[in-house]
Amino acid sequence: MLSLKDSDLLKQQAYINGEWQAALSGKTMPVINPANGEILAYVPDMRAAETQQAIDAAAAALPLWKKKTAKERSVLLRRWFDLIVDAKDDLAMLMTAEQGKPLTEAAGEVLYGASFVEWYAEEGKRVYGDLIPSHAADKRIMVSREPVGVVAAITPWNFPNAMITRKCAPALAAGCTMVLKPAEDTPLSALALMVLAERAGIPKGVINVITTTQPAEVGSVFTASKEVRKLSFTGSTAVGKQLMKQCADTVKKVSMELGGNAPLIVFDDADLDKAVQGAIISKFRNAGQTCVCANRVLVQAGVYDAFIEKFSVAVQALSVGHGLQGVFDQGPLINQAAVNKVSELLEDAVSKGARLVCGGNPHELGGTFFEPTVIADVVPEMRVSREEIFGPIAPVYRFETEAEAIAMANDTEYGLAAYFYANDLGRVWRVSEGLEYGMVAVNEGVLSTEVAPFGGVKESGIGREGSRYGIDEYLEMKYTLIGGI
Ligand code: NAD
Repeated sequence: MLSLKDSDLLKQQAYINGEWQAALSGKTMPVINPANGEILAYVPDMRAAETQQAIDAAAAALPLWKKKTAKERSVLLRRWFDLIVDAKDDLAMLMTAEQGKPLTEAAGEVLYGASFVEWYAEEGKRVYGDLIPSHAADKRIMVSREPVGVVAAITPWNFPNAMITRKCAPALAAGCTMVLKPAEDTPLSALALMVLAERAGIPKGVINVITTTQPAEVGSVFTASKEVRKLSFTGSTAVGKQLMKQCADTVKKVSMELGGNAPLIVFDDADLDKAVQGAIISKFRNAGQTCVCANRVLVQAGVYDAFIEKFSVAVQALSVGHGLQGVFDQGPLINQAAVNKVSELLEDAVSKGARLVCGGNPHELGGTFFEPTVIADVVPEMRVSREEIFGPIAPVYRFETEAEAIAMANDTEYGLAAYFYANDLGRVWRVSEGLEYGMVAVNEGVLSTEVAPFGGVKESGIGREGSRYGIDEYLEMKYTLIGGI
């Protein structure tokens, strides 16, 4: 069992209208530790009826919440931020237990998640409007921004805390109320955040959480609802497309943070040691289970062999283990299906001529642990080139020219994050501008921060999270014409 300093943070009920509730059917679902298969807790398995209750609660809470001053909302968010930071160790432990990432990574995510709450506690006070020079002397044109209304949010398991705060903080700061459905693998982090939101004094109904084994059923209630005016989704592109179609009938606003196929390009003029370091952090963070993970490592011919040599040494030095039992670089994958997918992708690549440089097998720890793996001589015909790997496999490609690298990098329907290592100033500009991605990191392997706009182009999504732009996703513009002046 988990020994938390504050045992109330381990909640086994969902949170609707300020009440901790079981499913109407009494059914529950287990939450499993991917590192050892242990059942950590049971949470309610809710369906359409409870989803509708939560939407009704959010709709009922909306008028009072949006009438609060920005400062009043800010004070509550700031309190929530402080409580999250104070509970950092427990929240990290819960996250490692249900998701598997190493404890230091989990603690990092808790602080990253909290940073959105702090940021939007401030940003909510700066939702300004405009007075537009009028077209007529006796009229005035005003533009104000109002909360969209009730927001539904659906989040994935790979960042069980930060993907939630990245949506809730701007929504609440803007004056919206919410219903959240966290991923079925990682509901405990979401529920713990609600315990802290309640303690912070966020009023009942303003934020509600449904847990379920039936995401499609709950999602359909969200998308069909006329009260829900916005859907904010983070997850796979396939589910995002489906939800966008479902949202068409009620013409909802949507934000979509979807999959990626990030290139990490190493040019001849790069600092190779920095490039290796960047590739390690970008590829192997969270065992390769992030949307911005380097999915393809493209290396220029002049440094190809040297890079592979240094990279494989660094990869073989990565430690693998159970995040609650020591300090490790990599934890387990989320479930057996993830291991199967990684194994299939690897088999496909090797059968088509990829060279296995290191790793390549389920880890001797068993369960869902997988060895950090490098494959070389990868080509676009292999499945790893087209699909999100979402696991600890780094495929390395060779290229000759800058133009070829840009073309290879852009040869995907995704457009979330891209990374490249180069020192030539002209090249830095040319390549940055040539990459069809929402985010580009130059000589860096991690780019997520609350102060910058996170999001993708092409089939990686619509909208941005974080930064001063993120709150716009939860605001509607209103034009008021005042005549007779
Ligand atoms: P997923 O799409 O299977 O699930 C995401 C969420 O959607 C979960 O809560 C799930 O229960 C729910 N869901 C699944 N089917 C649904 C349906 N029919 N209707 C409504 N909800 C449904 O994705 P996943 O495997 O949980 O997460 C990994 C994916 O998320 C990857 O593609 C990754 O790139 C993406 N992701 C993107 C970002 C980003 O910011 N762009 C961040 C993290 C993860």
